[in-house]
Amino acid sequence: MKDKRRARLKKVRRQNKVNEERQIKYICLDCGIEELIPEEVVRTFDIYDDGDIAEPPRFQCENCGGSMVPEDYTGVDGVHYTINDYR
Ligand SMILES: [Zn+2]
Repeated sequence: MKDKRRARLKKVRRQNKVNEERQIKYICLDCGIEELIPEEVVRTFDIYDDGDIAEPPRFQCENCGGSMVPEDYTGVDGVHYTINDYR
């Protein structure tokens, strides 16, 4: 009985952890709009994006169709990207 309760607690704690997931702030280079994208999504893009590792994963701006780059993000290859690299 006790073990069951403990297992359930663990499960809830894990779910909370997912909710507190870090988000990466992306900024559009063209219109300057800001958007928060879950780090998990950015990392997935990063892993499957086989382009240049000097380039962070980019997203298309929903507002103007421009290119969105992370304000501050460390990629899966350990490369640290900041918005200042693109300004
Ligand atoms: Zn834009």
